[in-house]
Order: sequence, then structure tokens, then C-alpha cells
Amino acid sequence: MKKNMGWRELGQGDSLPAGTAAEFQTGDWRRERPIFNKENCIQCYFCWIYCPDAAIILDENKKVAGIDYRYCKGCGICDRECPTKKEKRAIIMKEEKK
Ligand code: SF4
Ligand code: SF4
Repeated sequence: MKKNMGWRELGQGDSLPAGTAAEFQTGDWRRERPIFNKENCIQCYFCWIYCPDAAIILDENKKVAGIDYRYCKGCGICDRECPTKKEKRAIIMKEEKK
């Protein structure tokens, strides 16, 4: 039987300097795109809190205003956490067009 590789046998991975995330625009990883509907938004900030890429845009009055598609990877967490319901959804995921 083949023995599984232990951690000491694994090669070293890459590492990046801290504070460089803004240089890497990860929006082209996206397969789905969140569409923001301002009329239905209740400004609860759940999407802003949970977005792992800090891609939720706030306007000058600190209101949720949209999605920064340069960094949005399309994970859908904002859609899942948004408390608005059905036809009053403030965020809906749509297939990314090429
Ligand atoms: S889909 Fe993911 S990365 Fe994009 S805005 Fe929503 S939570 Fe952020
Ligand atoms: S989670 Fe939904 S309702 Fe709350 S701020 Fe974001 S888009 Fe608006």
C-alpha cells in the first residue's frame, strides 16, 4: 500500500508580502456576478462585513452603493448573507458573460 506524503516531504509554497492585495485584481476569476439593486437595499451592511475581498463599495455617505468588479471574485457570500427576500432582493447572482 502506498504511504501518504507527510508535511515534511511537501515542497515550499509561495508567499507574498503583506499589504499587497490591492495590486492583484481578482475579478477575472469570476464565474458569477453579483448584481446590486439599490432600491431594495436596507443598508444592513451584511454584504460589506462578509465580503472576503472588500469589494462592496460605500459612497461618501457610507451607504452601500455597488460592487467593485475589479476585485469581486463572485463567491456569492454577499448574496447568501443579504437578508432581503425573493422579488425584493438587493443582490442577485447572475452568470458572468464572457
Ligand atoms: S460575490 Fe463575493 S467577492 Fe463578490 S462582492 Fe459578493 S462577497 Fe464580495
Ligand atoms: S446585505 Fe443586502 S440589504 Fe444589506 S447592505 Fe448589502 S445589499 Fe443592502
